[in-house]
Amino acid sequence: MSKPIIALVGRPNVGKSTLFNRLTRSRDAIVADYPGLTRDRQYGTGRLGKSPYIVVDTGGLSGETEGVDPLMAGQVRAALDEADAVLFLVDGRQGILPADEVIANYVRLFDKPVQVLVNKAEGYDHDVAKAEFFQLGLGDPIAISSAHGDNVEKAIDHVLEQLPEKEDEEDLELDAQPGIRVAVIGRPNVGKSTLINRMIGEERVVAFDMPGTTRDSIFVPFERDGKEYTLIDTAGVRRRKNIKEKIEKFSIVKAIEAMEQSHVVILVIDGSEGLTDQDLTLLGLAIESGRGLVLAVNKWDNLTTYQREQVKHELDSRLQFVEYAKKHLISALHGSGVGDLFKTVQQVHEAAFKKVSTSDLNRVLEQAVLEHQPPLIAGRRVKLRYAHLGGLNPPRVIVHGNQVDKLPEAYTRYLTNVFRKAFKWIGTPVTIEYKATQ
Ligand code: GDP
Ligand code: GDP
Repeated sequence: MSKPIIALVGRPNVGKSTLFNRLTRSRDAIVADYPGLTRDRQYGTGRLGKSPYIVVDTGGLSGETEGVDPLMAGQVRAALDEADAVLFLVDGRQGILPADEVIANYVRLFDKPVQVLVNKAEGYDHDVAKAEFFQLGLGDPIAISSAHGDNVEKAIDHVLEQLPEKEDEEDLELDAQPGIRVAVIGRPNVGKSTLINRMIGEERVVAFDMPGTTRDSIFVPFERDGKEYTLIDTAGVRRRKNIKEKIEKFSIVKAIEAMEQSHVVILVIDGSEGLTDQDLTLLGLAIESGRGLVLAVNKWDNLTTYQREQVKHELDSRLQFVEYAKKHLISALHGSGVGDLFKTVQQVHEAAFKKVSTSDLNRVLEQAVLEHQPPLIAGRRVKLRYAHLGGLNPPRVIVHGNQVDKLPEAYTRYLTNVFRKAFKWIGTPVTIEYKATQ
């Protein structure tokens, strides 16, 4: 369940972002693109070969010989600390540069499995391309081409195979968590801890805290209005002695993991600050996770009537691409809006897991096609013949038909909306996949 974290390091221009794109392209794409969403290019999930993973592109390490300090700066260090394995990219066409050696020495400090990947090796003899990189002293390099894909799948499988198995045990632990699993995520200081405390309500905690299986998140089972929940606490509330004490540092990887372990994600935004880039990054990752999503716009108590109107307007116009997620204007501090937030969490959970019968799906598909026919492509009408449910959380509809690869994006959006309405799929992404039939 918890996916290994792979960090990409290397000098600028060795091909890290090219590799990153290749490693994350195969992720279970949550349809369409979402206009207005700045995609974070640093974190992604993917599955190219046998198993899934989370990739972090650490950005270019200059490898300046001024000392190791510049490398130690913030982000890179944090990424390597969190990583289970490191992919160290070098440029096979340039050979070893001093900066590569500086980086090699640096990654060695972390004592993590490191795989050297000799990139841009297409058209070269792989043995020759990688020969000099043995000198880095980091084991057998693998020659790859990020741009063409040569050996990339083999390399990632090789790296993942070296990692200790941890899946089964964690799956069991996760399955043992009662009720609706809710991840509360958001950037620092938006009010996650305050909201979590508000949600749990001290007296309602029915079981003791269990240590989270991965990194630092903690599962907190609790009950509210007779319903069971398990909160996935990324803010570390349950570990602090008091609310003032901040022991957790913000980690996007932790947020990604919490979302993967959850059924429903509450993304907390600080209403008094409006939308920031980091909010949008988290939002993008939440959409990608495919989980049910609720937006909690917090600190509403802190705003004047005029400001409230402004913030509402901003959110409405900038978050159109995620209109499926309900927005709740809340005050975690005073508790206003929190009850409604719970109602939505329940609704979203129900929607994301609702089983829809094949006959109902087909009835809706038929009606949708009648009301709005798919277009003619080169004089032939695209035919959508039948549909079935391919999965839940998020709901996946598989539609069989001919020429389906030619269907315009707009038609998929239309169908998505029809299904969403018909089956009350609120708060959850919905994906449509097509299968060609003759
Ligand atoms: P980054 O700075 O490490 O993220 O590097 P980029 O991914 O931006 O790539 C730098 C340059 O190398 C770009 O011009 C890429 O097109 C090119 N590049 C990346 N991978 C390969 C490859 O496998 N073969 C070749 N020939 N060029 C590549
Ligand atoms: P976290 O870093 O996301 O866990 O944020 P905290 O819960 O620690 O809150 C950060 C600050 O925002 C604290 O000073 C809180 O008291 C304050 N805060 C949280 N929720 C609210 C709210 O609803 N209204 C107001 N006015 N302040 C809030």
